[in-house]
Amino acid sequence: MKIILLGPPGAGKGTQAEVLCQNFHIPHISTGNMLREAIKTGTDLGKKAKKLMANGILVSDEVIVDVVVERIKQKDCVSGFLFDGFPRTIPQAQALEDKKVDINLVIEINVPDEVIIGRMSGRRVHLDSGRNYHIDFNPPKVPDIDDLTGEPLIQREDDRPETVKDRLNVYLSQTLPLIDFYLERSRNQQLNYLKVSGLGSPSEVSDLILAHIKNN
Ligand code: AMP
Repeated sequence: MKIILLGPPGAGKGTQAEVLCQNFHIPHISTGNMLREAIKTGTDLGKKAKKLMANGILVSDEVIVDVVVERIKQKDCVSGFLFDGFPRTIPQAQALEDKKVDINLVIEINVPDEVIIGRMSGRRVHLDSGRNYHIDFNPPKVPDIDDLTGEPLIQREDDRPETVKDRLNVYLSQTLPLIDFYLERSRNQQLNYLKVSGLGSPSEVSDLILAHIKNN
């Protein structure tokens, strides 16, 4: 199963990705997590991405497509994968098609703009694993501590309120057009498209997604 999770920053893609990947035994490919890892280890990619990410600006299509194409050549991707935060522009989606990466399912998690800002500012992450929490909607068992490792959680630099609005604008101008791009492919029966509301609790949203997959 090859899945794309689409939706604005703060829609809950990371949380749903974890559930889906566990259910279908596929790797979670988050380009944001890969870039953060590259920054942490100080690779060339990390150096290129650092300033852009801190300001909510997208890394170039060419760079990100290369990273993803290399990643899906790895053994753990033979029976599929889940893309979270990729593709984020029409050229990235087009590059996947050009490289004959056939997607089975696109899941759009829909959340109104006004809800997103509150969600992003409450988000906390465990840096090493990329595990996501939210101080109100998906809190860790102990405040500011990762449930599995006991290590501290952080607020991502790009979740600061000043950057959130920029990220939302980037989403609206560059990523939103992907909805029509994939709806058209769904009408042509090239893939299955599911739109779910991201306003419920994380488990309500994942129940909706899993029920849809079971019935299709
Ligand atoms: P995310 O964790 O998916 O919200 O990504 C955080 C940041 O990483 C974004 O604001 C971009 O700067 C960069 N990024 C992640 N994925 C992509 C992508 N597919 N294309 C370009 N930039 C990306």
